Amino acid sequence: MSSDYIIRGTAADGQIRFFCATTRELVERARQIHNMSPVATAALGRTLTAAAMMGAMLKGEDDLFTINIKGDGPINGITVTADSMSRVKGFVGNPDVMLPASDAGKLDVGGAVGHDGLLQVIRDTGLKEPYVGETRLISGEIAEDLTAYFAISEQVPSAVALGVLMNKDNTVRRAGGFIIQVLPGASDEVISKLEQKLTEVTHVTELLDEGMTPEEFAEYIMAGMDPEIMDTLSTEYHCNCSRERVSKAVMSVGKKELEQMINDGKEIEVNCHFCGSKYVFTVDELKEMLEKSAS
Ligand SMILES: [Zn+2]
Repeated sequence: MSSDYIIRGTAADGQIRFFCATTRELVERARQIHNMSPVATAALGRTLTAAAMMGAMLKGEDDLFTINIKGDGPINGITVTADSMSRVKGFVGNPDVMLPASDAGKLDVGGAVGHDGLLQVIRDTGLKEPYVGETRLISGEIAEDLTAYFAISEQVPSAVALGVLMNKDNTVRRAGGFIIQVLPGASDEVISKLEQKLTEVTHVTELLDEGMTPEEFAEYIMAGMDPEIMDTLSTEYHCNCSRERVSKAVMSVGKKELEQMINDGKEIEVNCHFCGSKYVFTVDELKEMLEKSAS
């Protein structure tokens, strides 16, 4: 059993809903799979943490979504997907990215991601056309960018805080965060109370460093607003790749490319972007694929 989980609840008589998460294990798993530098781990870890909580917002069992962050920084993009069971996976373009710490001594996630670019959320709810929401990056620090996404693209005023703390040996020490959303019809009093409280909340990493649990997060941030926890959900790093899916992807390169591979006379090796699993296809198997794709 993973120690990662999300709590979901409401506060101020249902005028606010919140999600708080602890995600150390899944972020550490991502770090190990991709052998990432500390700043890459922080960038992907923040995005995975947000996606885990956003997974808990999905209504349909089979709903999925993908977050694409395309900034002008050296990390060269972040891709994360999640399902309605808060199972997440992701990768970055450049897992080796190294940058000097920011002035405050923090990992420079904004510098790695870039300050200019796009954040895209592609939601697949089983309809023919997926729903795509897109906003410009604010800082590349992920939490601020998602706050803007929720406000502009989904018209839900939200407070997003995400943090990943590393150990000296570059393993993940703590990871977690929260998303608090003001629901339609919330009173001005509740909104200003929440805004006031959020200005008092210091860096989320400091709260994480104190070992604050998701329950304590909720109590702390929504003190005086009667936070009520509705449920506790597990979350994990999970990849659903299979030989069959990968072979479909290989087939999708087209007839010409398949013929080329067969003529090369060598088996091909395909690595899953999300989990690193290796799939080897022999020349005979490539020939079978060519036959299938021709029919
Ligand atoms: Zn995989």
